[in-house]
Amino acid sequence: MGEVTVTRRLTFSAAHRLHEPALTDDENRELFGLCNSPYGHGHNYALEVAVRGRVDPRTGYVVDLKQLKEIVNTHLVAHLDHRNLNFDVEFLDGINPTTENLVVRSWAILEPLIQPARLLRLRLWETENNYVEYEG
Ligand SMILES: [Zn+2]
Repeated sequence: MGEVTVTRRLTFSAAHRLHEPALTDDENRELFGLCNSPYGHGHNYALEVAVRGRVDPRTGYVVDLKQLKEIVNTHLVAHLDHRNLNFDVEFLDGINPTTENLVVRSWAILEPLIQPARLLRLRLWETENNYVEYEG
């Protein structure tokens, strides 16, 4: 039997302000528009964690989704939920918290924890209409 992909979806809410310190205030306003407003704004994010591997003949699972949920919650979502991404999250320190930057940092945290299956893809929804994907 080949490999199978299993996906778990988790949600969290967080605030941020898009602001790149290397740019001027005018350039930031021009580039990020309302997302640059000084006191920030919030999103209800959804993260889809896709894991790929062989089906364990003993369990019939690629990965135990309860354990996967626990790992992602403990090591990632708990650090993001109801936080301000500009100030409250150690692994985003000094980083402009775009969805792209957030998904790349999330990959670095989760990838080593998903064994013996492997992390195939993260899809991070920032709004109903926008998501970013990362495959390492
Ligand atoms: Zn935003």
